[in-house]
Amino acid sequence: MSEGIARAAPPPPGFAAGLAARSRWVLERLSTAVWVFDIDHGRVVWANAAALDLWVAETPEELYARDLKQGMSPAVERRLKQYQADFVERDATFTEMWTLYPRGVPRPLRVRFSGIALDDGRMAMLCEGREEAGQQPEALRSADALLHTQLMISLHDRSGRTLYCNPAARASFDANHDQLARRFVREEDCQALLSGVGATGEVSLIAEVYTSRGVRWHELTARACHDPASGQPSILISETDVSELKEAEALAHSRAHHDPLTGLPNRLAMPLLFEGLVKRAEETGAGIGVLFIDLDQFKAINDTLGHLQGDAVLMEVARRLFELRGRHDAVVRLGGDEFLFLAAEEPHEAGRIEDLAGRILAQLALPVQAERRRLMVTPSIGIARFPEQGSDPQLLMQKADLAMYEAKAAGRNQYRIYDERMRSRNDDGMELLADLREALRRGQIEPYYQPRCAAGAGRIVAVEALARWNHPERGLVSPCEFIPLAEKAGLISQIGASILEQALRQQRIWAQQGFDLAISVNVSLRQLCEVEFAALVRRLLACYCVDPDRLELELTETLLLESNPVVHENLEQVRALGVRIAIDDFGTGYSNLARLNEMAVDCIKIDRSLIGGLPRNEQILRLVIDMCNFMQVRIVAEGIETQVAADWAFAHGCHELQGFLYGRPMPVGELDAMLRRQSEVAGALRTLALGVA
Ligand code: C2E
Ligand code: MG
Ligand code: MG
Repeated sequence: MSEGIARAAPPPPGFAAGLAARSRWVLERLSTAVWVFDIDHGRVVWANAAALDLWVAETPEELYARDLKQGMSPAVERRLKQYQADFVERDATFTEMWTLYPRGVPRPLRVRFSGIALDDGRMAMLCEGREEAGQQPEALRSADALLHTQLMISLHDRSGRTLYCNPAARASFDANHDQLARRFVREEDCQALLSGVGATGEVSLIAEVYTSRGVRWHELTARACHDPASGQPSILISETDVSELKEAEALAHSRAHHDPLTGLPNRLAMPLLFEGLVKRAEETGAGIGVLFIDLDQFKAINDTLGHLQGDAVLMEVARRLFELRGRHDAVVRLGGDEFLFLAAEEPHEAGRIEDLAGRILAQLALPVQAERRRLMVTPSIGIARFPEQGSDPQLLMQKADLAMYEAKAAGRNQYRIYDERMRSRNDDGMELLADLREALRRGQIEPYYQPRCAAGAGRIVAVEALARWNHPERGLVSPCEFIPLAEKAGLISQIGASILEQALRQQRIWAQQGFDLAISVNVSLRQLCEVEFAALVRRLLACYCVDPDRLELELTETLLLESNPVVHENLEQVRALGVRIAIDDFGTGYSNLARLNEMAVDCIKIDRSLIGGLPRNEQILRLVIDMCNFMQVRIVAEGIETQVAADWAFAHGCHELQGFLYGRPMPVGELDAMLRRQSEVAGALRTLALGVA
């Protein structure tokens, strides 16, 4: 023992200065290992002789010099910090089984830890350790596991009073929550746990609990057992923090149900939102309007200005719709440029849905500022109503969609309310499609021809071939009706090829009769996407011996912006043949001058809606004509119905005029007669001129 005293350390700086020599002597003689551990620096700062033995240290200095932080697991480090806080806050003491590893050899101990302040005021840990002789390895291991596990384990009596917490539980539980019930955010969760254990002996649940890190989600498993100390029935609870999982789950749910661009709920969320509205409506007797909103010609914005600008427009539209929302309404982005507005109409608010549709039109009519441009976007809106037109959200959406198409067909930028006649018209469309297939097989789709006249002279210089379908029961069907149908059903290429062939054959006949006419044919995007298109044009030109220069293909502007390489290859090949390219319906979309210039188009046909707007939109028309002149192309004014319009177009530099003033699209026989009349007049004039001379 004297050896022990001799080995006893001189007091470390800042600790033992105040200890009386006698008590120091007592400490040195104790068989219990006593040492002071500086938690902040991970060092032993004082040890008695028994502790030096325990730590296998030759001298105190050698022990004090050891950096015990090295090789310490983060879990142990966290636990020590927790102890330090517990010592400061509530002068806590703990007795636990610990295993120390002096020089790498495991030494299982029962250790009592308590707080001890150093001279500089920091809280250190006073450790009193006794080796536990005869401990079974299993017991040692389970005690160690319990100590170091992240799993929170606690024992409670049947009333919920806390009897024991392992270090992980102690670190997590809020210090005041020594009663199980006080740990739960919702009382019913605690009730469910207690009654579950009472009924079946075991229960699992996920609940929000108060912890030292704030409110968290824990998954708790509770089992009925007995307290090994008192033998009383008790409850053992093991729990883990599942907040991250819960958050990830909530995020995934929210992502799946929201449109990332606009932040609005998406198509998937629609039935749920509708169900919520219906529940309320059934209580209050309200009605619900399902407003299907589709932006007019949005594709043109995307194609001409790019997706970034398109996205900016969509976000602004979403914002405006969202602001029009009443307290019980919902706005959904269905995808692309389609939105759904679910609007409640309380019994005292009759007419609210129509009023809302009007306000949507007014709000969206305001220009959208996108970078340095002001864009105009208009919507077409279709409305179906709950409960009058059904209670199934999908069905109501379909009906609103049909009504929206009616609004588009009626000229866009307006709303239509669904009525059953629309459905019959839709069924009609299906019937028409079946008939169209049949008509194609029988060759009943034929071109009518509309004259294109030289401005000023009025002489027919070209004709446009326009598809007509002479239906045995319905009479003449407009291409506005069957072309979109054929495009949707994938029949347009067949129709296009048939019209092209008939028109070229007719051009040849006229040429043989001495009428030198150019012929223009409309081409849709679907046709240009066919790899064989250019080859077909070449074959038909050769077959009917038509000079390629006498054929003009009418394309819409948006078609030039198509990114499909097949379209570009076809266009280059037909141009290489010498076929002319015209841009149809010019001035209605968002013109991309650079692209038009690059494509070297030969002719631009100004849309009839612009000509029809004269003299109101004279300035716009002048601008359009200036653009055409800049590109050095032939200018055709479409939709000339009056002499005034014809004079204006001629005076402003249009080269060709087309419209009802000169003739509607007509069957070949009528155009033949017209051409003959024209040549007779020309002949007579020539004779007259010769006579005069
Ligand atoms: P589009 O190519 O712009 O054809 C001109 C349309 O304007 C024709 O309507 C014509 O009848 C009409 N129109 C001509 N002059 C006047 C006028 O003075 N006043 C008014 N109010 N209208 C006038 P149509 O024949 O009903 O054709 C409509 C559209 O259908 C065409 O517009 C064209 O885009 C498409 N289409 C017609 N035939 C074909 C075809 O064979 N293939 C393809 N892909 N589309 C076609
Ligand atoms: Mg055309
Ligand atoms: Mg046109």
